[in-house]
Amino acid sequence: MGFFLWQKSKPSILLIYTGGTIGMMQDVRTGELKPFNLKLTKQIPELEKFDIELSSISFKHPIDSSNMHPRVWVELATIIKDNYAKYDGFVILHGSDTMSFTASALSFMLENLSKPVILTGSQLPIGIIRTDGKENLITAIEIAAAQKNNKPIVTEVCIYFEYKLHRGNRTYKYNSAHFDAFKSLIILH
Ligand code: ASP
Repeated sequence: MGFFLWQKSKPSILLIYTGGTIGMMQDVRTGELKPFNLKLTKQIPELEKFDIELSSISFKHPIDSSNMHPRVWVELATIIKDNYAKYDGFVILHGSDTMSFTASALSFMLENLSKPVILTGSQLPIGIIRTDGKENLITAIEIAAAQKNNKPIVTEVCIYFEYKLHRGNRTYKYNSAHFDAFKSLIILH
């Protein structure tokens, strides 16, 4: 009879970039905001300190969330379905204007969810010094990776924004000028 030590590998997270302010950078000459290729560890070196396996995919043409469409919800749900067995959690980067609608739709599309799907974004582009995007993204990844007894702690679609974790289908954006942009009747943490 032999013994072996079974060690769970580190949590794996899939980051899906759809567009929105968080992934924008400012053209130094014109001041214009343009989507940039999310080289995350370059923008947020803190991510390298996590004991998390992070993979990312990006929409070929990132969109402002005012152009979000049910067709894109289906695309997102399909990405999660196709990668469900491979990852412990999912983080979706999304423009804040219609994030609540996407979170709500996904919460009904992804039936019997047993892994976290955390949407986040930001009010200021991640390339800007005082961006809220870094905190939002880092904590969203931490929440998606959080486990107890090898099981995910959050098993639903949520929005993480400005130090609050909201239930996805109870949230609305009420402010576009402050970092604290979302409200919900149920704040989870
Ligand atoms: N207009 C942007 C969007 O919703 C605003 C943001 O990202 O917060 O895509």
